[in-house]
Amino acid sequence: MSNTFGQSTVLGYPRIGTNRELKKAVEAYWAGTIDADDLEKTAAGLRAEVWQQLRNARLDSIPSNTFSYYDHVLDTAVAVGAIPARFARLGLSGLDTYFAMARGVDAEPALELTKWFATNYHYLVPEIDADTVFKANPTKALSEYAEARALGIETRPVLVGPATFLLLAKGADPFARLDDLVDAYARILNALADAGVGWVQLDEPAYVADRTPAEVEGLRRAYTRLGELANRPRIFVATYFGEIRGALSALLDTPVEAIGLDLVAGPGNLRKLAASGPLAGRIIVAGLVDGHNIWRTDLRAAITNGATVTALADHVAVSTSCSLLHVPVDLSVETRLAPELFERLAFARQKVDEVVLLGKALRDGTAHVPVPLPGGPHVWRNGDVRTRLAALSPAARRRAPFVERAALQQAHLNLPELPTTTIGSFPQTAELRKARAELRAGRLDADGYTARMRAEVEHVIRLQEQLGLDVLVHGEPERNDMVQYFGEQLDGFAATDHGWVQSYGSRCVRPPIIYGDVARKAPMTVEWSGYAQSLTAKPVKGMLTGPVTILAWSFVRTDQPLSDTADQVALALRDETVDLEAAGIRVIQVDEPALRETLPLRHADQESYLQWAVGAFRLATSGVADETQIHTHLCYSEFGDVITAIDELDADVTSIEASRSKMEVLGDLAAIGYSRGVGPGVWDIHSPRVPSHDEVVTALRNAVAAVPARRLWVNPDCGLKTRGYPETEASLRHLVAAAAEVRGS
Ligand code: GLN
Ligand code: ZN
Repeated sequence: MSNTFGQSTVLGYPRIGTNRELKKAVEAYWAGTIDADDLEKTAAGLRAEVWQQLRNARLDSIPSNTFSYYDHVLDTAVAVGAIPARFARLGLSGLDTYFAMARGVDAEPALELTKWFATNYHYLVPEIDADTVFKANPTKALSEYAEARALGIETRPVLVGPATFLLLAKGADPFARLDDLVDAYARILNALADAGVGWVQLDEPAYVADRTPAEVEGLRRAYTRLGELANRPRIFVATYFGEIRGALSALLDTPVEAIGLDLVAGPGNLRKLAASGPLAGRIIVAGLVDGHNIWRTDLRAAITNGATVTALADHVAVSTSCSLLHVPVDLSVETRLAPELFERLAFARQKVDEVVLLGKALRDGTAHVPVPLPGGPHVWRNGDVRTRLAALSPAARRRAPFVERAALQQAHLNLPELPTTTIGSFPQTAELRKARAELRAGRLDADGYTARMRAEVEHVIRLQEQLGLDVLVHGEPERNDMVQYFGEQLDGFAATDHGWVQSYGSRCVRPPIIYGDVARKAPMTVEWSGYAQSLTAKPVKGMLTGPVTILAWSFVRTDQPLSDTADQVALALRDETVDLEAAGIRVIQVDEPALRETLPLRHADQESYLQWAVGAFRLATSGVADETQIHTHLCYSEFGDVITAIDELDADVTSIEASRSKMEVLGDLAAIGYSRGVGPGVWDIHSPRVPSHDEVVTALRNAVAAVPARRLWVNPDCGLKTRGYPETEASLRHLVAAAAEVRGS
């Protein structure tokens, strides 16, 4: 077989546009200010721009169907006709049915949104059960292919593969539907072949996690079937985010023409490949350029790895380790990064150039390759931080055990049974966002900005007093984002101006870059919390973001273990807690909503992760006196593998999402003997719906049945920043009244 694949490709590319054009267009469509045609025109422009850029960069094999109005898993669900009846019966247009699944409509909640493997991208979970009727609908893939071809660009349509699609779905045993689903894929492949498509890419990243023998067998069966189709494009099965281990031999048993391996997150893939025996004309697509981080590739190391693959396989193409969806679009528009940092970075456009260069080097030898700059972060060291960390034992712990601390804290705080509180943020109003925009634009000076934020803090404090909450918060009006806010104040972090990455749907985030040793320059939150406390006799809860979450939502340095970076962040937070305490703050919450999301995909790797994650949290929270109450907040309700770690965090109180899962979480905690304070959310803040007084009472009575009342806190599921004031006030009123009612009974 000749290598019609070429030397270079990427597994996917950002679809949001260099200036987030897609976000603006989609939101305008939702708001009704543009129509479907306008939206489609913007989308087509963005797609054309990407394809032309990739062609101009001389990338050999160019992907298509990587564009999405919301999410590529949802696109695949539509492509196989897996539209749940509750949406199909709304009788909306195709586009509006799609957005209804993504965002919900009045009567129908949206599909569930969840993390895409260990990234900060969220996909919509397909709902599949025994009644789902699969029906091939290749319209989107075909029209994107035709669109690119009209520009003279031959592309390779990309879809989530059938096995991964079902492994990501929820319902009664979705994987049991594999054979039916593969029928639909077969029809899609027929249609693509009829349209002249030469190659198709099917993504199977689910196989980098632990899989049962039946699931691996399913993969083999699916690709044997698809591979044996008479009328189909050549098939490229892409895997990424880790090592595929046993699934490699399953794939090699099938007739698929190309297999993609992540050689960045899964270095063991190389050994596995070497051990797999003859590769029989197979094309190996080597993911040598990191699609999940923003450092320049160490080209010398990549060439060495690429050469190893070349020695094993007849045909090798160079690729990114995963889709470039996870990095910002273009470094060249960043004008304010320090030159020493700038020259170490590569965003999507720059990574395409690296891929092309590596492809050439592997084909023609390295003589034509310009002397590469070293890849990865430069080491910006801070001796002070390192000395202090070495002295503070990694087993830093609070002095007294929980039971003793609880008594001391209660003597100070004097809280009623079932104390009421919130998770931190209050509504981020249009006025607050406007003030931030004016500050950035220079129309508002720092003093003016501070004055507006202080006015908001005062408003939030007065509101909470009036509502009768027990532990107050300052409301976080000054925070643009719970990670960015700290990143902007810490040494070792850099912020970009345009480095947006899609998080879900039209939502983008701008993760900070951790490029060197992390150090706190000055207190970061003490003024705000101290000011809030000065306004009230009730305790105000200080509010920090935990080390694991700060790492999870940043681009991290790769020159040292994550655990070392986590400890540096923890040390900065530890200093902050000590300063908060000195400023009279008696309760401090350290949020770790990302604790579970960064859990390694393979079981065997999870324990050591949890060990350093817990260690970093303890380092951050054990500098304060036993009288100071430490809270943490977690944003999920099914713990799975992190449940014992939650106990080991040794926080005095854990608030946790629970309203949607009807308090199941309390049973899970009881099962491991968790005996600290817990605040299961009694109000689902993800929708504007106001829970009735009776609903909150019921939720609380369920909670009291599972946990002694003296350990129970009453709070919403999460922060209120995305909510409006009317529903916030009404809901909190019900929450406080419900607590009073249950307390009295
Ligand atoms: N304290 C944060 C807030 O209330 C917590 C956010 C989160 O859990 N994601 O907004
Ligand atoms: Zn939360």
